Amino acid sequence: MKITIVAGVRPNFVKVAAIIHAIQHQQKLGVNISFRLIHTGQHYDVHMSGAFFNQLNIPSPHSNLEVGKGTQAEQTAAIMIKFEQELLSNTPDWVIVVGDVTSTMACTLAAVKLNIIVAHVEAGIRSYDRSMLEEVNRIVVDCICDLFYTTTEEASSQLEKEGIPREKIVFVGNTMVDTLVANLERLVQPDLWNDFELKTQGFLLLTMHRPSNVDHPKVFQQKINAIANAVSPLPIVFPVHPRTQKNIASSGMQLPDNIFVTNPLGYLEFMYLIKNAKGIVTDSGGVTEEATFLGIPCMTLRSSTERPETCTIGTNVLIGEDMDLLTSSLKQLIQGKWKGSNIPDLWDGRAAERIVQDLISRSPF
Ligand code: UDP
Repeated sequence: MKITIVAGVRPNFVKVAAIIHAIQHQQKLGVNISFRLIHTGQHYDVHMSGAFFNQLNIPSPHSNLEVGKGTQAEQTAAIMIKFEQELLSNTPDWVIVVGDVTSTMACTLAAVKLNIIVAHVEAGIRSYDRSMLEEVNRIVVDCICDLFYTTTEEASSQLEKEGIPREKIVFVGNTMVDTLVANLERLVQPDLWNDFELKTQGFLLLTMHRPSNVDHPKVFQQKINAIANAVSPLPIVFPVHPRTQKNIASSGMQLPDNIFVTNPLGYLEFMYLIKNAKGIVTDSGGVTEEATFLGIPCMTLRSSTERPETCTIGTNVLIGEDMDLLTSSLKQLIQGKWKGSNIPDLWDGRAAERIVQDLISRSPF
């Protein structure tokens, strides 16, 4: 069985690492299964891409489509054209796409139009907010792909509501958690730990990169100030996404004194910080899952989430635009009061193993 796996951005690398390792395990057991890893080049910066391949032991991509920057339409078109060529030269039995980014959607479209079957990992999650381009990507991919691996029963039910036959939906768990479980003993204390004189549970971790938070300097500054004031003098570590870096530089905004900025961190260093933080404020989806798994209090600076289980079961609280809720939640955190939480079903480190076994069981090849 030949599989082509697509990865384009930082969270994709975390997920495909688990899938590739599960395939390699089956190869060692003598199963006739091979893969090609295609990097679309959507993230290309060493902090956002190369570092992940090294740390997570992901083999070098068989091909890099090097699409780089561009508008949504330019990136979608460039990925489709180049991925179609890749599929014509190296036709697989299956394509696996993960997550909800432009690469996920563009590669699904290119494959489906060549009648190649596509499996979507992390299918069925919905924020019901189409102003997020990821939501559009999720809907398009789940309309046209062939097999659906889900992280929760709720995502499976959503797909059924959308008319997908039950036999095409498999609840497997969370590949992001797989990678976390596999690396828990390998986490690395970042150099900034000593530079910023951090202590376990003595700092807040912050990530912000969504357009709704960082594209308007006034809004961005207001949120940053509210967070910094509420927890002061607690230090805040802020690994800054390239998009956010650009906006900070162009707006000339000033960051409060208790915020320590750094480049995006390697996976092992970032997870070390999550595990040892007092709490996290983020607008990332993946980070809310990791915080839930590790039992670390988390606040999400968004009005909707496609991962509701991180709020209903896990440690996450949806803040939206409510600055009073943000401040009161941060005060609660400082007082050491946070809701109880659990880990969602099947977030046990074995999702990728289930995916690969399911693919093998379905394969006529
Ligand atoms: N991450 C990392 N270093 C960082 C920030 C994030 O290794 O400095 C990892 C982490 O696993 C996180 C993932 O990248 O869950 C997702 O990042 P991002 O916020 O870009 O994606 P999203 O979850 O918003 O799709």
